[in-house]
Amino acid sequence: MGEFELIARFFAAARCARGGEGVALGIGDDCALLDVPAGASLAVSTDTLVAGVHFPLACDPHALGQRSLAVAASDLAAMGATPLGFTLALTVPEVDVDWLAQYAAGLDQMAGQCGLSLVGGDTTRGPLSLTVTVFGHVPRGQALTRQGAQVGDLLCVGGDLGNAAGALPLVLGTCEAPSGVAKPLLAHYWAPSPQFALGQALRGQASAALDISDGLLADAGHIAKASGLCLEINLERLPLSDALKALLGQEGARQAALTGGDDYVLLFTLPPARLSCLEKTGLPVQVIGRAVAGQGVRLLDAQGHDITPTQRGYQHFRGTP
Ligand code: ADP
Ligand code: MG
Repeated sequence: MGEFELIARFFAAARCARGGEGVALGIGDDCALLDVPAGASLAVSTDTLVAGVHFPLACDPHALGQRSLAVAASDLAAMGATPLGFTLALTVPEVDVDWLAQYAAGLDQMAGQCGLSLVGGDTTRGPLSLTVTVFGHVPRGQALTRQGAQVGDLLCVGGDLGNAAGALPLVLGTCEAPSGVAKPLLAHYWAPSPQFALGQALRGQASAALDISDGLLADAGHIAKASGLCLEINLERLPLSDALKALLGQEGARQAALTGGDDYVLLFTLPPARLSCLEKTGLPVQVIGRAVAGQGVRLLDAQGHDITPTQRGYQHFRGTP
């Protein structure tokens, strides 16, 4: 099967490639054309997943399809953007029809869930790697950036932390767990739900936001640095799922929540007066700390003692000169 037949069969024919609002021209020409509403900014983000680095080669292609789009789409949610479309740069070692069909089905499912249209891409031969670029729009001046947190703001998250880190040994096959524990954790790892509703509700409300991909401590550090203040996190306030606690115990679960990556849950700062209004929407909001004068991130125990660890989230190329 040639490149063009592959594109036509697995991607141009997918439900998510039919176009939608804002897609003036989709797959098949030299460029896709996207229409952004008047007064909006275009939000763009790219993520690459490399086999053997970001996922094991021998994994379920349907799950990989979901995950490869979800991790990119989460960045749009974190900016408060409305989803528009995405492109897929796919590098595969060979044409494996079953693998491609399942990968495309997983991708299509997540695209439907997110409201994202597949508008183009590139298809090449080589070691398996997936690059997804997502596009969204956000009213000019209302995007949620990492800058803008104020001293006195509450530090909040949009859901349980650490599930994906807890799932990782299950994904890699280095540990096993009863299905009641493994299933929800693996679901979170393979198909995280980008928090679009929460991100859009935070427009004009949150003073800073991002999605947690490198671990809570590391990502809180990004907001602290960009906003020029210190974020205090109360250890006993971290939201932890029952499945994670069953797998790792309370201490292990907290460790996973603090330093594990891949949560794709929103982390944001909020002026205290806006909390009750946001809680009334029914969207998931958990206060885990606050912004104070200073710099960096401080972890506090139940008594308010500073117990900040030195280990931070995962960083590619860490330790190279
Ligand atoms: P060009 O040579 O103009 O860059 P290509 O021959 O690479 O275009 O691709 C043909 C069309 O198919 C383009 O519209 C491109 O965006 C689309 N396309 C290529 N690969 C993919 C893919 N994996 N998924 C979706 N669309 C793709
Ligand atoms: Mg061209």
